[in-house]
Amino acid sequence: MPEKYHIKTTPVPPRLPRIGKYGIVDWREDCARCHNCVKKACVYDRHRQESNYIRTLKYSNFLFFECMGCFYCVQNCTKELLYLTVNSEYEQLGNHYWTPEIIQTTWQQAETASVPVSGAGYRGKFAGPGFDAMWTDMSEIVRPTRDGIHGREYISTSVDIGRKPAHLEFKDGKIVSETPEILDIPIPLIIDMNPPEFTLPRLEPFILEAVKMTGIIAIMDSGKWQVLGNETQRQNMDNYLPNIAFHLNPEAPEIPVEVLRKTRLVEIPDSKSSLDLRAALREAVPGIVVSIRVPLDRKGVSRAVELVAQGADVIHVVADFNGNEINVKKPRFIKDMIREIHTSLIKSGQRDQVTLIAGGGMALPEHLAKALLCGTDVVSTYLPLMIGLECRLCSDCKPGLSCPAGLEAIGFDYGVGRMRNLIAAWYLQLIELMGAMGMREARRLRGDVGRAMFFEEMEEEIFGTLFGTRKRA
Ligand code: SF4
Ligand code: SF4
Repeated sequence: MPEKYHIKTTPVPPRLPRIGKYGIVDWREDCARCHNCVKKACVYDRHRQESNYIRTLKYSNFLFFECMGCFYCVQNCTKELLYLTVNSEYEQLGNHYWTPEIIQTTWQQAETASVPVSGAGYRGKFAGPGFDAMWTDMSEIVRPTRDGIHGREYISTSVDIGRKPAHLEFKDGKIVSETPEILDIPIPLIIDMNPPEFTLPRLEPFILEAVKMTGIIAIMDSGKWQVLGNETQRQNMDNYLPNIAFHLNPEAPEIPVEVLRKTRLVEIPDSKSSLDLRAALREAVPGIVVSIRVPLDRKGVSRAVELVAQGADVIHVVADFNGNEINVKKPRFIKDMIREIHTSLIKSGQRDQVTLIAGGGMALPEHLAKALLCGTDVVSTYLPLMIGLECRLCSDCKPGLSCPAGLEAIGFDYGVGRMRNLIAAWYLQLIELMGAMGMREARRLRGDVGRAMFFEEMEEEIFGTLFGTRKRA
């Protein structure tokens, strides 16, 4: 039996005190000193941990906010001296899309590499905007595919990038039709370049190491080629090149062809001459797969479809970092744009031959699975790796401003370890989701909307006949 894909992980604890949601305010002046004090009964032992934290205080600007919010001590204190409080610093993390819950759960995954468990029952909303308006069908959760998770069968998460021929032609037992180059990656995930809104920390050395360890690919701006990685990595760059896809920035000096020959995927920005450039690259670097990056602005969806019709093999469509259409007053969300591109390609009979990579707003592993169900082959993301390093996703993240999480000066092992753990946690969650959906191959998830339910469609189906169509904002 060939070896299964596996990411070896070890816990990487945080550098800073955790920014949790809840804390306990203790009005101890009136304490009756009960011998069976409720504080001793906290199953998480938070009151003792808080006392230790205060006794060995290292950071005077961080209070102890690690209470789990179960209310046990609050409800049972005989003198009603304990109150639950919500950490205002926690509420300020991220933005409307990258919510404090997403940021906190990303920190946990980067620390432990495990699937987050929220305890008894789901406490959140059941529908919302964006990916929250979509549910995956987990009805196979007790079926044998679950064995794949526990080692008796395979669940394959690998996917291919490149043009797949519609059919093969044989002559005298040999393939005579053209077999274009494809590359396969073990998870349908690639690491993108940083969004323009987040330019402060220089994370390339950690990303290079993490993608090499996990076998996935990171897109790097060609303008950074000369300064890519740290000193040791630069001396051994050949080991890293198979996991790098250069984004050929037209304003940066050209990358030597002998360097490109050691990579497997390259990306070019969309332009009038992108198809000519693609042809020239394939001639200069035989075997390389060329992706064309298309920003999802007003024309993005139609442009992606047009490029495929003109012969492009791999299209990388990118929305803004919140997953919205770029520079549009009433933007569409990434999942809807992926569905539109996917359906158009099916209609034109080209879907099976090309690879679609989609990025923007991919914040959680469930977004990865949902984006595949909507019709992309691969997902690209960047911010979760940065958040995994205890980043808070501030509104100002530029060189010259100070980083509250001190990301400019993190250790190499810490940075790589947290990124590797996060990629492993995403992988494990994809496997869990696929097991519950009864899917054994990530390739077959693509566009399988039968495994998903969409809020708008269900609402229309159930209430449409009674109340009519919902008015759009
Ligand atoms: S509310 Fe629950 S978790 Fe928090 S300190 Fe009290 S008993 Fe512990
Ligand atoms: S904590 Fe803020 S400044 Fe630091 S990397 Fe994150 S977003 Fe940028």
